[in-house]
Amino acid sequence: MEYKYIFGPVPSRRLGISLGIDLIPFKTCSLNCVYCECGATTNLTIKRQEYVPLDKIFEELDDFLKREPELDFITFSGSGEPTLHNGIGEVIKFIKTKYSQYKIAVLTNGTLLSESNVRNAIINADLIMPSLDAVTQSVFKRLNRPFPGLNIQEIIYGLIKTRMEFSGQIYLEVFIVPGLNDTDSELTFLKKALTEINSDKIQLNTLDRPGTSAWVRPSSKEELERIANFFKPLPVEIIANFQSRKNIKSYHKDIADLIISTLKRRPCTAEDLANTLGLHINEINKYIQSLLENDVIESEILKRGIFFRAKNKNLLLN
Ligand code: SF4
Repeated sequence: MEYKYIFGPVPSRRLGISLGIDLIPFKTCSLNCVYCECGATTNLTIKRQEYVPLDKIFEELDDFLKREPELDFITFSGSGEPTLHNGIGEVIKFIKTKYSQYKIAVLTNGTLLSESNVRNAIINADLIMPSLDAVTQSVFKRLNRPFPGLNIQEIIYGLIKTRMEFSGQIYLEVFIVPGLNDTDSELTFLKKALTEINSDKIQLNTLDRPGTSAWVRPSSKEELERIANFFKPLPVEIIANFQSRKNIKSYHKDIADLIISTLKRRPCTAEDLANTLGLHINEINKYIQSLLENDVIESEILKRGIFFRAKNKNLLLN
């Protein structure tokens, strides 16, 4: 069966071996973050609806999970915001009822968590991984470029409510963009909000390959360490570089080789590669990340998006 809405399993930096569920069409999101590795949001919205048919998702999940694959997590993620799908709660219920041996993670930008029906929809997951990059409305607007009307204080309120109501683990990601959210005042506000949210972990992240905006640069290891120290005693960690990805069991050398050989012929965006190779964009993204880290490919921001090309024509990963 050819899958349209599930992808992987992919090696995930934070989740081990993860089967992805993408409930949302490409780049439908309530934010348009400057660092988004999927490219610019093309449908900026807060409208919740059945973006993809639930029965098709159930069909694909049944087909894949009946083989009892070894997974660390089933993860709602993808190239948009999963809580925009109004059936996310149904999908979680479906997995928990029929395949209760699997743990469920929800990656969310947190923008809709101030709505009680959205919080209720994901309450039966095992792990919620929201993000919060800014606390002042002006930084929020510049960094996350939200749907008009989204208010960062309401979003923080939603995160606090989620913590109060949800008994599973919450790992909150803070994406550091130098010059935007690493100023003393923004970090002070962030620390206050993070203390109130009280997540189980705070994970500091930064750009490791081009985002949608060319001016965004990564934070250095030293900068991240300084911020981590500033946030202490909160449970903060820097998300480690992912250089060992090729040692993870779901890393398929044949897929990496296929990507390299395609990029040897012509530079492509991640979306081009996904279309050409018939793989989900998130899966492509994981391999691109590893190939960039191993210096096998390079990237360049052009008018149509971020293009990748093979660097050394004879080099393939072992
Ligand atoms: S919330 Fe996630 S998917 Fe949406 S624009 Fe930001 S990084 Fe991209």
